[in-house]
Amino acid sequence: MYFASDNSGPVHPQVMTKLAEANQGYQMAYGADTMMNEVRDRIRSIFEAPGAAVYLVATGTAANSLALATLSNPWETIFCSPVAHIHEDECNAPEFYTGAKLTLVPGGDKMTPDALRGSILGEETRGVHGPQRGPVSITQVTERGSIYSLEELQALCGIAKEYGLPVHMDGARFTNALVALKCSPADMTWKAGVDAVSFGGTKNGLMGVEAVVFFDESKAWEFELRRKRGAHLFSKHRYLSAQMAAYLEDDLWLQSARQANANCARLADGLRAKGAEFLHEPQANMIFASFPRAKHKQLHEAGAIYHLWGDELGGENNDESLACRLVCDWSIGSVEIDQFLNLL
Ligand SMILES: *Cc1c(COP(=O)(O)O)cnc(C)c1O
Repeated sequence: MYFASDNSGPVHPQVMTKLAEANQGYQMAYGADTMMNEVRDRIRSIFEAPGAAVYLVATGTAANSLALATLSNPWETIFCSPVAHIHEDECNAPEFYTGAKLTLVPGGDKMTPDALRGSILGEETRGVHGPQRGPVSITQVTERGSIYSLEELQALCGIAKEYGLPVHMDGARFTNALVALKCSPADMTWKAGVDAVSFGGTKNGLMGVEAVVFFDESKAWEFELRRKRGAHLFSKHRYLSAQMAAYLEDDLWLQSARQANANCARLADGLRAKGAEFLHEPQANMIFASFPRAKHKQLHEAGAIYHLWGDELGGENNDESLACRLVCDWSIGSVEIDQFLNLL
């Protein structure tokens, strides 16, 4: 009963098989491996973007930081949600790589067009003394398990474009959003106005690969230089390519995300039936729910693993409601989900 995060699970066996296949003979290093050519073509075709620049890095933090560095200047500010991973969970790597600052758009998990416009208007008001406006970064799926609709994405990108600002998408859970919206990768990115996307793989069955895709190929060389300077150009790169190749083969990426979302829906339905309250409506593969401390204690004693959300398990009042985060990946079985629900 492991619901701590979607990077706690195993690597998908098809990925391990592909890695073993890739482990034959010799290949050119630093991204010049033959499999990277296939991966680049495949990603361009999936995104319906024949000219896109496509790169692989090993972590989402690197993908976000290097993408944002390529889209910004050090005297600019990057607009994001107050709960954005780039703000809360990357130990200032985005600030380190970009030299820029982050401006938190007031509000909750999802940015609203009005709040974004307000934040943009609040900058570039002090001439040379203040930060200049820079990229807008949108997380899809959000850090609270919500999904921006295509209309919402278009509205946010539209505002960024009004001010000539580039848009970055943190897609650590890109495919979980994609299959939930039942749209195309192009719809969720460049057709809506996104300029660069961190296209996640690790949380959806890979060992450690995220692609960075720029729809404007003029960014390609700068990104390559930044990736190398930032120590994220892998020399035995074929093992990154192999993971991404397996991911995109036979729709593994889509199947894994559908399975993760379905697992989450099964857990959410069960929680709802047991009277749990939701802090956010679960839309992808993450649940933020609260239920009494006594139940958390029972679940922990029975070996369930998940994070409490801002609350402590220890405490006397067993009736008090405690919030938790439950994340499902593709590998969680219905047996474990039902076991969790039965305990509850
Ligand atoms: C997990 C995650 C990342 C990437 O994190 P790494 O640990 O650096 O791989 C980025 N954005 C979001 C929203 C995430 O959940």
